[in-house]
Amino acid sequence: MSRIAYVNGQYLPHRDASVHIEDRGYQFADGVYEVVTIVGGRMIDEAGHLDRLERSLNELRMDLPMKREPLKFVMREVIRQNGIRDGIIYIQVTRGVAPRDHPFPKDTPSSLVMTAKRLSMERAAKTAEQGISVITVPDIRWARRDIKSVSLLPNVLAKQEAKDKGAYEAFQVDEDGMVTEGSSTNAWIVSQEGKIITRPTSNSILAGITRASLIKELDKNGIELELRSFTVDELHSAREVFLTSSTSYVLPVVKVDDQVIGNGHPGLISQKLRTIYENFMSEDA
Ligand code: PLP
Repeated sequence: MSRIAYVNGQYLPHRDASVHIEDRGYQFADGVYEVVTIVGGRMIDEAGHLDRLERSLNELRMDLPMKREPLKFVMREVIRQNGIRDGIIYIQVTRGVAPRDHPFPKDTPSSLVMTAKRLSMERAAKTAEQGISVITVPDIRWARRDIKSVSLLPNVLAKQEAKDKGAYEAFQVDEDGMVTEGSSTNAWIVSQEGKIITRPTSNSILAGITRASLIKELDKNGIELELRSFTVDELHSAREVFLTSSTSYVLPVVKVDDQVIGNGHPGLISQKLRTIYENFMSEDA
C-alpha cells in the first residue's frame, strides 16, 4: 500500500506532498505538532493529544485549523488510507504561508499536514527486553519547553550525539544539574529506596501524554510516585531508570553515560510498569 499524506484539504501520494517555500513552519519553525501512537488500528490517548495540540496552538496564539470532529475524521482517514495497524500518525500545524516577515501575518490560514507510518511492535518489544542506554547532555533549549513546537534543533543535536555514542536517547540537564527530560521522551528513575521519581510538569519540560497516562495507572494500582526533579548523580546511582513516550511506551534504561544501571538488565519495576502501560494501551485501543 503506497503512503498517503494529508496537506491542507488534500490526500496526496506521500512523494508528491509538499508545502510552499514560504510556509512559516519552514522559515521560522512557527508551528506545533503531535505524534499519536496507533495500536491495532486505533489511536492511544487521542483526546490527550488533541488537548495538548490545542494548548500548544493557544500558547502561540493560533487556533485549531478545523473543529475537533472534522480533525478527528481526517486523522482516521489518514490512518485508513495508509492501512496502519501499528504505527504513528504525525500532525503538524503551522501559521501558514506568507511573505517572510517576523510578525504574524494577517488573515492567513494555518497549514495542516498529516502523515502516518508503520512501526514494528516486535522490534519495540525486543528493544524493551534488552533495555537501552542514554547519555546526558546540557539542556540548551528555550524557556517554553511545554509547547510542542517544531523548533527541535537542540533535540536533534542531542539525539545525534546519543546516536554517535551508540546510545538510544540523550537526557538533558539544566543549569542546576537537574535532569529535565529526553530529547523526545520523559525521564524517570527508581531510587535505591524503591521510590519512583519523575519531574513535575512546568515550562521546563513537555507534559508527555504517556507520562500522564502512566501516572494515572500508577495511581489506580496504588503505586507511590514522587514528583520532583532529580540530579545527574541520582540518575547515575538509581536502582532503575526508564523513559516514556508515545513511540517508546515505557522503556527500561540499563546504562547512563558510563554507568551501568542495576545489573545491566531491565529492572523489575520498569518491566512491571511497561506491562501496566501495555495493558492500558490494549484497553484504550
Ligand atoms: N519530551 C519531549 C521533548 C518530547 O518531544 C516528547 C515526545 O515527542 C516527550 C517528552 C514524550 O511525550 P509523549 O509521551 O506525549 O509522546
